Amino acid sequence: MWIVPEREIADLLTRDASFDAVEKVFAAMAAGDAYNFPVIREAIGHEDALYGFKGGFDGVGGTLGLKAGGYWPHNLEKRNLINHQSTVFLFDPDTGKVAAMVGGNYLTALRTAAASSVSIKHLARTDAKVMGMVGAGHQATFQLRAALEQREFEKVIGWNYHPEMLPNIEKVANEAGVPFEAVELEGLGEADVVISITSTFAPTIMADHISAGTHIACMGTDTKGKQEVEAALLARATVFTDEVAQSISIGEAQHAIEAGLIQEADVHQIGAVINATHKGRTSDDEITLFDGTGVGLQDLAVSAAIVRMAIEQGVAIEVDF
Ligand code: NAD
Repeated sequence: MWIVPEREIADLLTRDASFDAVEKVFAAMAAGDAYNFPVIREAIGHEDALYGFKGGFDGVGGTLGLKAGGYWPHNLEKRNLINHQSTVFLFDPDTGKVAAMVGGNYLTALRTAAASSVSIKHLARTDAKVMGMVGAGHQATFQLRAALEQREFEKVIGWNYHPEMLPNIEKVANEAGVPFEAVELEGLGEADVVISITSTFAPTIMADHISAGTHIACMGTDTKGKQEVEAALLARATVFTDEVAQSISIGEAQHAIEAGLIQEADVHQIGAVINATHKGRTSDDEITLFDGTGVGLQDLAVSAAIVRMAIEQGVAIEVDF
């Protein structure tokens, strides 16, 4: 089997490779060629940790495996380790033999950023000029960096619950040569594309904060109870997601479904747009909303690409196992 340690991933994995892997696997999911297994997530009663598995099988990409890991809230302060910890295991789908073990921390950030970028590529207006950010934490910087590659953005506007964190995203905008302006939530109406990536359990983005024609990627809600946007916004928007089952149970759509504002049939797979079996955006006035919940197949697809690159570049460790 091959081992690709966490320390090698940042040098190996490019945003382009991550984007391609995620776009392909979303397409395979919508075509019925790839599927995710039910997610396991447990509070283990030790170190306040949440631990779980996300797995799946892509019959066309030939990827089988799982990402194991979770969130240890005291890592940073007690051990100077990052709080999110995960590892991906790939198996040979022909034999069941373990094929690779890949550090999953950095790749999680890039694969999550790739998901919102795929949605921007396929759903945002082509003339989008103003990029809006809600959130300025660890993931937000990756999200913004990738999003700025999707359109000719001329300005980034941003709001964060903790305003002292806004320089994190201002730095990314400026590095990409785009000016940044901090705004109130009401100011988001200027944005053509919005990404929300926060850990809130109460909606901060209200339906009337978002203008007609905007594409919004809601990336923070990946657990029951979390909510970034008012449910009424989903009723106003055409809603897309990575996986419908996750969107309606642990994603942003859980609340609009619960309130009876939309039905499961109103939530569409982004892969169908990629495969051109769903028309996607149909007018310049339409609000499109991508509910990115994060699926195991994203991790597996990106890991398989990493293993290929690591072998090519001679940094994968071979173990007789
Ligand atoms: P982080 O802790 O670095 O940042 C958290 C962000 O949420 C900050 O911007 C913070 O200001 C904001 N926030 C905190 N409390 C808030 C509140 N009450 N109201 C509004 N905003 C608040 O976390 P991160 O690593 O950037 O992750 C952000 C979110 O993305 C988390 O909820 C995480 O679970 C989720 N996530 C989703 C995926 C996916 O695939 N969809 C993948 C990874 C992480």
